[in-house]
Amino acid sequence: MQKILNYIDGKHQQAVSGQFLDNYNPSTGEVYSLIADSDAQDIAHAYKAAEKAFKGWKNTPTEKRAAILLKIAQLIKENLEELAKAESIDNGKPLWLAKAVDIPRAASNFEFYASGIKHWASNAHFTDQIAINYTKHEPYGVVGCISPWNLPLYLFSWKIAPALAVGNTVVAKPSEVTPMTAYLLTKICDQAGLPKGVLNVVHGLGQKAGNALVEHPKIEVISFTGGTKTGAEIASKCAPHFKKLSLELGGKNPNIIFDDCDFEKAVDTSVKASFSNQGQICLCGSRILVHASIYEKFKAAFVEKSNALNVGDPLEKSSNLGAVVSKEHMHKILACVEQAKQEGGTILLGGKRLNLSGKLKDGYYVEPTIIEGLDNNCKTNQEEIFGPVVTLQSFEDEDQAIALANDTRYGLSATIFTENLSRAHRVSNKLQAGLIWVNTWLLRDLRTPFGGVKQSGIGREGGFKAFKFFTQTKNVCIKV
Ligand code: NDP
Repeated sequence: MQKILNYIDGKHQQAVSGQFLDNYNPSTGEVYSLIADSDAQDIAHAYKAAEKAFKGWKNTPTEKRAAILLKIAQLIKENLEELAKAESIDNGKPLWLAKAVDIPRAASNFEFYASGIKHWASNAHFTDQIAINYTKHEPYGVVGCISPWNLPLYLFSWKIAPALAVGNTVVAKPSEVTPMTAYLLTKICDQAGLPKGVLNVVHGLGQKAGNALVEHPKIEVISFTGGTKTGAEIASKCAPHFKKLSLELGGKNPNIIFDDCDFEKAVDTSVKASFSNQGQICLCGSRILVHASIYEKFKAAFVEKSNALNVGDPLEKSSNLGAVVSKEHMHKILACVEQAKQEGGTILLGGKRLNLSGKLKDGYYVEPTIIEGLDNNCKTNQEEIFGPVVTLQSFEDEDQAIALANDTRYGLSATIFTENLSRAHRVSNKLQAGLIWVNTWLLRDLRTPFGGVKQSGIGREGGFKAFKFFTQTKNVCIKV
């Protein structure tokens, strides 16, 4: 069976423990590969390799660093088919989605930061006639990157590309649930000529390998994307050591449909925002708020379009949705649906595990699920489910829509559908979220700041913000 090995100091190797974890294909429920089960010893080795490589990488001319990152991007594109298939098998997402979004975006991340670093300028300040100040941005050394399972290569590369571009070396831990494409990327890095030790990838459990990375005394910077609970645990461990932390966490994002919207667009986009990637995108709009005057019309159209979605083999073009990522996650989602019923919710669509046949019979498939009749205060409307489950609520006016939208501990993103430009600005202004989309969803420009407010995170990724995060600032003042 294929083994997913650590990549330390340019070498693929087993965990020191020699142990492996099972890696499941969620579309069939079968174990199809084995993952190095790493611990603090592997993290220590990875740190040493990264520390050794730092000086050389930092002093590599920017042009050369950028060229290597561009080569990685090119190789990702050349291996699109293989990487997309690997992502689909590892995660359960439709192959067409991995081909259209995940893998191209991983290549774009490298391209974007490879070119960005060549355009990142320093500031100089002339203090009257007496001094010149210039401000330098210096890499930290070894930084830690921890990424989740929902968009595996996409989010893994979103962290490591800027960290490497500015001259850091990296110890990264991808999610143990979906490690395959990070492993394949290490082979690409080898091929692209990334010097050994510059990127080290340690596989294994969050509580073991991830925790060791967070607790490593010499790693001063941690970039984390994952759940809010894990983020809180990591923050509590980093704070006493004053580690720099970027936290991209969960969301319970409102999708607000005003009565002056382009109705068809609102319905179609809401279907995508609800069920893309089986609802396992931190930006999915899981609470749909609809103006009372169009609530019934919207509900009918939304249920009808969602009902037409085909849940099936991720490798088949005809599947709109594939499998959810793991058996545990499937049971969590189904338990959330039961909870919604107990809270008095009415299931308008779905709500059950879908049992497919043949080789897919043990796969983890969940029907697209729509629930109505719940108060915003209930658990279903307050806690992130992270699956193909959304709720519908109605509102009477703009103020109520904003109050409902903001009534959660999260604040990652929000979507508004309205053709009234003044309303779009007014509502955007009052929403508590780091990202707002108007009449669209998940339209991304990599230069824009990405991140949430409240318990959806701390810090911003994207554009030069990522370079700032991965560097420390030094001011030099020279008296003239
Ligand atoms: P988790 O928080 O469970 O895990 C994220 C990563 O952290 C994984 O690599 C995990 O390893 C690791 N980890 C777990 N526990 C620890 C620990 N104690 N110390 C260090 N590392 C640890 O999140 P999921 O993987 O379940 O991802 C889903 C969550 O991510 C959702 O809440 C979603 O909203 C959020 N997310 C946020 C995004 C954003 O940009 N704001 C984007 C995408 C997802 P392992 O998997 O091996 O346990």
